[in-house]
Amino acid sequence: MAGIDAPRILVVGGGPTGAATAVALRRELPGAHVTLVDKATFPRDKTCGDGLGPGARRVLDGLGLAERLEQFHMPMSVAISGPGGVEAVARGPIMEGRDLAGYVTPRLALDDLLLSAARDSGAEVHEGVAFEGMTPAGDGELVTLSGREAAFDLVVGADGAYSGVRRAMGVPRPPMRHTHIAMRAYGKVTHPDKPVSDTLRFDFLETLLPVYGWVFPLPDDGANLGVGIPVDHLKRQTARHGRSLRDLFDLYVEDLERRGFVVSGVERVATHQLPHAAARTPMTAPGRSAVLLGDAAATINPLSGEGIFYGMAAGVQLAEHLGALERAGGSWQGVDLAGALTGFERAHRRRFGRHYRECYLAQQLMRSPLWAGVATRAVAASDTAMAHVALMLFDEQSAGSRGLLHLARRSVRPLLRLPWAARTGR
Ligand SMILES: Cc1cc2nc3c(=O)[nH]c(=O)nc-3n(C[C@H](O)[C@H](O)[C@H](O)COP(=O)(O)OP(=O)(O)OC[C@H]3O[C@@H](n4cnc5c(N)ncnc54)[C@H](O)[C@@H]3O)c2cc1C
Repeated sequence: MAGIDAPRILVVGGGPTGAATAVALRRELPGAHVTLVDKATFPRDKTCGDGLGPGARRVLDGLGLAERLEQFHMPMSVAISGPGGVEAVARGPIMEGRDLAGYVTPRLALDDLLLSAARDSGAEVHEGVAFEGMTPAGDGELVTLSGREAAFDLVVGADGAYSGVRRAMGVPRPPMRHTHIAMRAYGKVTHPDKPVSDTLRFDFLETLLPVYGWVFPLPDDGANLGVGIPVDHLKRQTARHGRSLRDLFDLYVEDLERRGFVVSGVERVATHQLPHAAARTPMTAPGRSAVLLGDAAATINPLSGEGIFYGMAAGVQLAEHLGALERAGGSWQGVDLAGALTGFERAHRRRFGRHYRECYLAQQLMRSPLWAGVATRAVAASDTAMAHVALMLFDEQSAGSRGLLHLARRSVRPLLRLPWAARTGR
């Protein structure tokens, strides 16, 4: 039960970030009054690839929610194909001692389940209530929610890529060069020889780069499939070739079919932006009792487009910092709260900063047909490298400088062995 002086925390957004944050806050601060609002009524869809990797599984396990995931499809392997038809496969669930298993969880079901978990944890959940703005008031924030004002000690902005909380905090939106746009659809995908239903597939195809495509399997030969591209590249493709995102999606499907995949029943085509972690969007703002998490803070993995893990992990980190503030007898106002928020932001950058940077570097590499081919070949030749890349895509793996050197040596060696004519194409 929240007491009269209990801290009042508002979580804006009931996606995976907001819901997991509410659960973590209720666990770390049992005396706090946690309110979660979402403008949508659930179940609601969110345009997504629906892939959850081992990192996300670990967070949900830590929140006591792992059992609720058992209903979902669990692919065991990850495949990456690059230019020249090279394919690297990580066969899980365990490879090189690393757990690679993940889930494909349609967001219509996953988000509903996580919102129920937030409600079960004791958070007060209001669906169909929109955040409309906020101003600093005393030592907190005065917030307008669907036309009504209410005061909170802390506002958590987990309201996604187009965040209104971010705007109200005066934090600039991530630049377009660090924002991708993606189109996903549902359909049936099979292949006479490849185990589609067991594998999370990423394609970096020579003819489409820097577009990447994915096929994430669902039961009964179903799949979530789609393409992603940096927004500024899409603008260039449209200006130069008159190509829309839907055209690129159709080209990807044609390419899958050329490689023997059978794609049918494509439906529920939808588009959404992905703000990437390379943007280093601030999560806090001076003088504000507010913090941004998940897509609102642009924490999507620049290589894989995975964002659910990082949003939920940030929510748990935030709750731990606020729990420590409470246990130390700190105040929910002024410098104490500001210290806890900046401490959280620093801890998040310490844990994920190198991973985000390396994923960004790898994503830049995969935009070049030459380097995408070299890197895929090097990774295909080494189980250690492939397990590593799978965990860069779906977990918080980073190589460090020694690991990067090792990978670079592996990548360059086959190039040096090629005769000059093959390297230069002459
Ligand atoms: C095509 C595509 C494929 C992707 N594939 C994957 C993948 O396979 N795996 C993965 O991990 N990530 C993937 N991502 C990224 C992933 O979808 C996001 O990172 C994730 O949804 C972020 O969760 P969130 O809770 O921060 O935001 P969201 O899921 O966007 O939730 C935000 C919530 O805030 C609510 N909201 C917004 N404005 C207001 C307001 N004013 N008032 C009240 N409520 C509001 C919304 O209704 C929504 O429910 C993909 C993204 C795209 C676009």
